[in-house]
Amino acid sequence: MDITALFKISHGVYLTGAKEENGHLVGSCIDAVMVVETAPCQIAVSLSKKSWTCQTILKTKLFTLSILPEDTSFDLIHRFGFISSQTENKWDNTPHEIRNGLPYLTNAVACLIAQTKTITETNNHFVFLCDVLDVWAGTMKQPLTYADYQQKTKQQERRKTMTEKKWVCTICGYVYDGNVPFEELPDDWVCPVCGEPKSVFVQE
Ligand code: FE
Repeated sequence: MDITALFKISHGVYLTGAKEENGHLVGSCIDAVMVVETAPCQIAVSLSKKSWTCQTILKTKLFTLSILPEDTSFDLIHRFGFISSQTENKWDNTPHEIRNGLPYLTNAVACLIAQTKTITETNNHFVFLCDVLDVWAGTMKQPLTYADYQQKTKQQERRKTMTEKKWVCTICGYVYDGNVPFEELPDDWVCPVCGEPKSVFVQE
């Protein structure tokens, strides 16, 4: 089975926004959203059980969904996708508005407020069937697709690799790969292969 073939199913990238019972705002980046009915309006959303936002929504039942625009920064996706709301208030440094006490993204393509109605469980996810209580349009930009996001991630990784310079010994060709940044090595450090001093290393 080629799981990557599933990435060809076209869908978008979204932020959820919710509020814990103690008032703390939480949110996450998700990609599994489907409109299942328009009258009355209902959506299905899948959230990882490990997600703090998912655990919050299980209790409070209410959340916002912001549709991300095509020019969404990698940083925003990273913040909402890879950091837990349990340890950081992600909305603090993110332009957002509040409606019905819930945070949503200022520059979203569109936003909605959902209330969970039925919950189904898989191994790692809860799938919420929700009523849409309110929905409104935002910026005129195109929505970011999951395929674009994948492409963006790859480009970011490539750029990172390209900008990471390596320190190379000009005598023996050894490439420094220690955990301590090369600049912070002591002055008497020597090349582990040929024994020459730091000064013979150049950045490539
Ligand atoms: Fe060397």
